This record gives sequence, structure tokens and C-alpha cells, in this order.
Amino acid sequence: MPSFPVDGEPLVTAERLPVLPLRDVVLFPYIAMPLLVGRAASLAALEAANAEDRLVLLVAQRDAETQEPAAADLYRVGVVARLRQMSRLGTGTVRVLVEGLARARVTRFVPGGECLRAQVEPMPALTVNGSDDVVRLRRALSLFEEYVSLHRRLPSELVTLIQSADTPSRQVFAMAAHLGTRLDRRQGLLEIPDLPALLEALGGILSSEIELLRLERKIDDDVRGSLFQNQREFYLQEQLKAIHRELSGEESDDTDELAEALERKGLPEPVLSRARRELRRLKKLSSMSPESGVARTYLDWIAALPWTDRTDDVLDVAHARMVLDEDHYGLEDVKERVLDHIGVLSLVERLDGPILCLVGPPGVGKTSLGRSIARALGRKFVRMSLGGVRDEAEIRGHRRTYIGAMPGRVIQAMRRAEVVNPVILLDEIDKLGNDYRGDPAAALLEVLDPEQNKTFNDHYLELDYDLSQALFITTANSLATIPEPLRDRMEIIRLAGYLDQEKHAIARQFLLPRQLKQHGLDPATVTLDADVIPSIVQRYTREAGVRDLERRIARLSRKLARARAERRSTYAPDEAAAERDHVTSAMLHDMLGTAPYDPASNTTEDKVGVATGLAYTSVGGDVLEIEVSVVPGRGRLQLTGTLGDVMKESASAALSYARARANALGLEREFLRTRDLHVHIPAGATPKDGPSAGIAIACAIVSALTGVPLRGDVAMTGEITLRGRVLPIGGLKEKSVAALRNRITHVIVPQENARDLDELPAEVKAGIHFHPVRSMDEVLAVALAKTLVARSDDDAPTMVAH
Ligand code: ADP
Repeated sequence: MPSFPVDGEPLVTAERLPVLPLRDVVLFPYIAMPLLVGRAASLAALEAANAEDRLVLLVAQRDAETQEPAAADLYRVGVVARLRQMSRLGTGTVRVLVEGLARARVTRFVPGGECLRAQVEPMPALTVNGSDDVVRLRRALSLFEEYVSLHRRLPSELVTLIQSADTPSRQVFAMAAHLGTRLDRRQGLLEIPDLPALLEALGGILSSEIELLRLERKIDDDVRGSLFQNQREFYLQEQLKAIHRELSGEESDDTDELAEALERKGLPEPVLSRARRELRRLKKLSSMSPESGVARTYLDWIAALPWTDRTDDVLDVAHARMVLDEDHYGLEDVKERVLDHIGVLSLVERLDGPILCLVGPPGVGKTSLGRSIARALGRKFVRMSLGGVRDEAEIRGHRRTYIGAMPGRVIQAMRRAEVVNPVILLDEIDKLGNDYRGDPAAALLEVLDPEQNKTFNDHYLELDYDLSQALFITTANSLATIPEPLRDRMEIIRLAGYLDQEKHAIARQFLLPRQLKQHGLDPATVTLDADVIPSIVQRYTREAGVRDLERRIARLSRKLARARAERRSTYAPDEAAAERDHVTSAMLHDMLGTAPYDPASNTTEDKVGVATGLAYTSVGGDVLEIEVSVVPGRGRLQLTGTLGDVMKESASAALSYARARANALGLEREFLRTRDLHVHIPAGATPKDGPSAGIAIACAIVSALTGVPLRGDVAMTGEITLRGRVLPIGGLKEKSVAALRNRITHVIVPQENARDLDELPAEVKAGIHFHPVRSMDEVLAVALAKTLVARSDDDAPTMVAH
């Protein structure tokens, strides 16, 4: 018996399936459709199927008019379908809901009996093989999206529905089922055995449907545009004229326009001759054909891209200094290094050296620094996001043979720039993906390499494009995930995040005036109590940068603008009171809503089993509350919360330490026999710097086991070995900034990091007392609120000093 793969499950059918001929429709698998059945043979097929397993073969008739189709009148490929609901409609007609299951090829029609039957064999399942198929599928889906958006009767949800279907065959057949095209083309689609060919054909049909829908719209619009009398005759005349215009190649006018634009542009020789060749081809093509669309888009790209236009550089370090200061508060060392870079640039005109890479948590001003650098140099600025780019083709474009092909992001950025020498900010270079669709990092290397980027080759353009005059700057949240070869080419500049005082200054000098202006308010007319901004920073934001702060300030400005507008309608417009505002921190609740963070709960209280760790995450430094509880059990270590593998290892190491030092810590020797430990890290992102939470976990374990509280004003960072040695960590600056933000006054750091302390910002050094330590015993001496008493059965009791 034939067996059909349906979503991976075999569907076994009868040897000879009853045949239900279809008039003017083609059913596709996975589609349900109501049918009205009235013909005797068809009714008999329904009866037969009902008596068996409710399966029928639905095949389209070649000619809808044939009343009693015989084998020769039917196509040879159909769909095995299940009968769902049947209802009789009095007149002898039956209404039936059929559900398409799988495609089947008829090997033989078997006439005789009440109805026609067919012997069938399955068609191959549609599977995605390799990257080309993925690309084709994606193209088809995006064409389909365009098709639906132009179609007046298809709802836009259809697109999401199909995009979220779980197999390519469901997606493909669902798209095919919604095409308004002719029967024979739909049947054609049904008959194509393999996915690539099916997708090509589907793409072809979609493109021409889109073209037709566009034309329909255009004619409609043309008509509507010149319709000033609602007279039917006139309307029809216009419609006729528009159709004539379209058919008589009126398009050639704008081919001429395009040609002129290209000639005027002063294209380099190889580009010009390529453009001319493409133009000649375009003129020969019918303006309605899909190829003509492709050729036109290509020429549009050439015409729109900058080939020679450039802006004049301003290479003046003093001017650059002024611009950077105008746009950004603080960031002294960052600005210095940027100025060095600009200095070199002014000497050599073109920089073959490393690319600047600004690394830091979100909202610390990486993007806006990029913009400032462009302004300082008098260059245009474009931003190109690399987040989630996994496919080389996104950098380098798709070949034109792909339907809906486009140049890659680099060329798109150049088009936006409109000049050959912009500053291009490659954002989030650490989020670059990499999979079987080629390595985007390799393509990017070529973009950044001054040796190679003179002749950058985009697959779509198929022409060398000179990128060497563009200045590239990159940004990243963390260095760890930047592909090695790229990192080698870059000069890293770190932005660690701001202290509260710095945030206050940034808000007062930059964010507030800017937001007020954007909301139509003169900054001179708004005054704030001194504690308003600190209060927003402390109670409404929790971040290393100032992005949330800016959002909150924007909201405040919006509220002020609205209140002023309301007052204007009640006061006389010239009354001064209507045009002034004063904000106090008591008003924040009404303007910004309930504060999400309560600085008071930023505990500096002593607690049992809770240690304050410091972590370096992709959003900057953060404090991390590590909580351990002890429950009766058999020595299991349970870990929950946002724990990475490294954290788990740290937890095991911490536990080994506690075991080894059980006596000295005043613990029962075999404390684990009767207890389970539960380590939990309640909130916050997983630290990026690996095992630096080790000593904090160990402290929480010891505190939970002994019942001795840990000091709430102490935070710590350091890796722990099995024997309780404390090893150095990274990100000290970010971590201590976060500690200060959280009102921590004591920070325990590994002895080996002591030399880094000098480089910390002055505010941090003034506000925090640092305790460099070598061993876990020293950590406990600082962190525990009371002295531990060693157990008396220990031979040589070690007191852990306080
Ligand atoms: P990033 O790219 O690092 O995520 P942005 O450049 O988008 O951050 O910065 C967020 C906002 O904060 C921008 O409006 C920016 O102008 C502002 N900003 C950040 N740092 C400073 C600073 N030092 N001085 C003035 N404004 C700043």
C-alpha cells in the first residue's frame, strides 16, 4: 500500500483511491477547502471514501467545462485529502470540507464501478538542503509579503501565519494556495517535485503577480489623480488612457531619464560601460516583464550610489577637540585617543592603521561619539548595525539571479551616505553571528582592510567598489565575542560606564536641555530642584550608561510640554506663569510613575546567607546578591537563577573549600551528610567574566552554614581555588563603579588586583575602602559580621580573626 510522508508521519492509503475531480481549483497539501459536490461520479467517490478511510484523491480537470471527466481529462498529479465535514444541501448536492494531506502522482487511473479510482505513488518530500534553499525560501517569503501588502483582499496576518509555519513545505504550499494565478500555473507548481525548482517557480509567479498588482494600483492612482468629475464615462476614458500609456511603452521616457542621470553622474569608466550595457538591455525588455524590473533596480542602484562625490575633510585637532567637548561630558581619555587618531589622519590623509573600536555597556555614548567624530572631521555619518548578521550575503549582497536580490549592508550604507568618504559606524560587531551560510566576519575583514577595500566586491553590483576613503569605527558591548582576526585589526577604546556624579552632569548639561528643546520648551524657562536629577538617577534607573536616564528625562519633558499646553488654553497667552515651570522631586511620582528602584532597599543590612558579589556583565558592572539556604538533605548542591557553567564550577570550588576548612570555620566535619545547599542568584545578567563570583559564593555558603551574618556594606569579587586561595579578576573599574552606585563602602579584591586600584576614578577611591586579600580566610575576616569560633575538636584550632 502506498505510504505518504505527512509531517514526518507515514500516511498509509488504500491501493486504489477514489478520485474526486476538481473544476477550476487546485488543492495544495495542508490546506482545507470547502467543495460543493453534485456530479454522480463525484458523489459516488465521496460514498466510497466514507465507507473506507475517508481519503480521496483530488485532481484538477484540464478543462473545467468537461461534465464527466475520464482519465485523459485529468492531470496526473493531485493531492490525497481527508474528508472532514459533510452536509447534504437538499438539491442532491453535498457540501464537504476537504483537508489536503500530501501530493500524489497517479500511476494509473482505474475506471469501472461507481467512481473513478487511481493508483498513486507519493511525491518526494520537500526538504531544505543547504544555504541556497534557505535563501530561496527567504526570498519567496519576502516576495509573498509584498504580494499580500499590495493585495486588497488578503489580510496582512497571513504573512505572519505563514512565516511561523513550522516546515518549509507548509510555508510553500500555503503561499501557493493564496496565489490568484491561472489554474495551469497552480497545477504547474503542484507538479514540481523538488524544493529549489518549486521555490524558483513560486518566486517567478509572485514577481509577476506583484508587477500586475502594482500596475493595477498605478492605473487606479492615475485615474484617481485626475478624476475631478464623478462621471462614469470620464472615469472609463481615463482608465483606458492609463492602460494605453502603460502598453505603449511610455516607460521609455523614464528610461531616458535614468540614462541621463547616469551620464551626468561622472561614473568611473568600468561602471559607466556596465551601466550603458544594462540600459541597452533594459530598452529591449518589455516594461511589464520581471527582468525589466530587475534591470531597472540595478541601474537605480548605480545611479544612487556615490562614486566620486565627497565632502571636504576638516583636519584640525583644535576644532575636533571643541566638537567632542561640545557633544560629550567627561570621557577625557577616550577623547584624547580619538584626537590622536584624528591627528594622525591629518598627517597621512588616509589611515592604514587600526580601526577604532569603542567597547562598553549600552548607553555610554559609543554611537554618539561616532557621530561626533564625523562632525569633527566634517564628514557624513552612517550607522550600520551588525547585530544578528549571520550570513555573508548580508554584508556582501546576493547575486542578481536571486529574486529580490539586493546589495549588502555595506553598499546600502554607502548609498545612504551619498559620498565616498563618510564615517561608517559598524555597530555591535560583537554580535556578529556565524553559521553555515558563510562567515560574515571574513567579509567584514575585507571591508576593513585597506589593502583590499579599494576593490570591494559586492555580489549584487558585480563591480569593484572603492571603500578606502570611508572611515570605519566599530562598537561592541564586550570584547569576548569579537572574532579574533577582527579584534587584531582594531584599537580598543574602553568606556566603562558613569558614576552617579557624572550622570548628573551629563543630564544637566546635555540630556535635559536637548530633550526640552526637542519638546518645544526653552531650557531657560524650566528650573529643577537640586535633588531632582539625583533622584531620577537613583530611583528610576539602574544602568552603567545614560540611556534610560535620557528616556526618563524625555518623559519628564513631555509631561511639562503637555501641562504647558493645557495651561495656555486657560491662561491668557502672555501670562508669564504659563510659560515657566519648576520641578521638585515630589512631582516625580506623578510625572514618571512609581519609582522602580528603592535606594533604601539597596541593602546595607547584614544578612545570613546573602553575599554581595560584583560582576562584569555585558551591560557593565553590577552587584549580584548571592543567596544560599541550607535545608535538610544528603549533601546535594543545588543551583538556581542565572547561573552559567562557570558559576557552577565556582560554587563547587567554594563548597570544597568549606569542607576542607570545616573545623576552622566552626562547622561539623561532615556537615554535608545531613544537609542540602541551595545557591541562588536572584536577579541580574550572567557575569561575562567567568569565575569572579567564587569568593562571594563561598562567603554565602559559610554564612548560611554557621548562621553568622555577612556585612551588608561589603561587596567582593575574586576567583576561589579548591584550597581557598583568591585569584585575580577583570573589570575592576566597572565593578567598583557599580559598587559605589549601590552605596557599598567596602570592597574585597584579590591581592593581585591591588595594582589596578591606582587607576580607578578619584570618586571611587574616595568613596570605597578596598581590602586586597590573598585567601578566603582573609575574605571572611572582612565580610562576616562576627568572629567565627573554630570547633573545639580541632587539633590546632584556627581562629578566623575579625
Ligand atoms: P551607546 O552607543 O554606547 O549605546 P549612545 O551613544 O546611544 O550609547 O548614548 C546614549 C545617549 O546618551 C545619547 O543620547 C548620548 O548623546 C548620551 N550620552 C552618553 N554619554 C554622554 C556624555 N559623556 N556626554 C553627553 N551625552 C552622553
